[in-house]
Amino acid sequence: MEKKDIKSMTLEELTGELSALGEKAFRAKQLYQWMHQKLAAELSEMTNLSKGLRERLEKEYIWTALEPVDVKVSPSDGTRKYLFRLGDGNVIESVLMRYKHGNSVCVSSQVGCRMGCRFCASTLDGLERNLRPSEILEQVYRIQRDTGERVANVVVMGSGEPLDNYENVVRFIRLLSAPEGLNISQRNITLSTCGLVPEIRRLAEEGLSVTLALSLHAPNDQVRKTLMPIANRYGLAEVLDACRYYFEQTGRRLTFEYSLVKGVNDNLEEAEALARLIGGHHGHVNLIPVNPIKERDYVQSNREAVEAFKRHLEKRGINVTVRREMGRDIGGACGQLRKSYMDRKEA
Ligand code: SF4
Repeated sequence: MEKKDIKSMTLEELTGELSALGEKAFRAKQLYQWMHQKLAAELSEMTNLSKGLRERLEKEYIWTALEPVDVKVSPSDGTRKYLFRLGDGNVIESVLMRYKHGNSVCVSSQVGCRMGCRFCASTLDGLERNLRPSEILEQVYRIQRDTGERVANVVVMGSGEPLDNYENVVRFIRLLSAPEGLNISQRNITLSTCGLVPEIRRLAEEGLSVTLALSLHAPNDQVRKTLMPIANRYGLAEVLDACRYYFEQTGRRLTFEYSLVKGVNDNLEEAEALARLIGGHHGHVNLIPVNPIKERDYVQSNREAVEAFKRHLEKRGINVTVRREMGRDIGGACGQLRKSYMDRKEA
């Protein structure tokens, strides 16, 4: 019989599992807290569970644990980039960013990605596999344990398209925000998507209150198609309609991510087109000076172009932020740490 992944279970499921082993409900709660609140690294730490029960649990279930193979720390802003090895030997990246309002962890949701965005290193080798809920959770747990500092915010913005791994990501969100676990408020969780329309609509009806960030990156379908193959499947009108629905259902304002690429989407006409496109929406624009990746020839917009773009949007009454470039000195864009590790391994 295939082993079950114990850290991906809700408290209710765990209670059912332990009751089948002849254990009382409070044992399930103790075990749940060891895994999701006290972040125990090993079963041997769970001292209020009997040795017999621990041995049985160890033998009969999958215990997800991540092994850090590399940690890079930025001397300039304290950002920490982790490269974790999974149980099957695959590696993934996670990042801890330190802000005034608290620590934020960016997690991966898949090994690789099949969405093919032109500016992204995570997709260069396609999709390897989906991550299980426990493998996404463990990125947060491991980093909190490693630093001894509380994680206040989580962004699902690392490698992978979260809505392409829908069920596991939704379960991850429920476990991360469970009161018996780390209890991170759903309002402090952001999920970033390249725009999978049916899944955005489905997420709107989940009863969650996470922030949805749409990777927009272009003010019209024509430019968007050159950057993001998904734009051939879903046009902007359809994507923005789904975003509006998300706001109506959840009351959560949206974030529109816009990576500025020199000469591709960063002139003032494009700023004006963007203002017209999202003018009626409840949300703000997050401008991202694109991170150069060596496999592609996109160049970052210069500071003046970013400022002019920002000013134009503000003039049109749109809320705009420019993303601070965290950890630029330790490995550039998302997916690059993993990519260079894999390349080294192959060499
Ligand atoms: S930007 Fe996101 S959706 Fe696009 S290829 Fe990269 S990981 Fe996938």
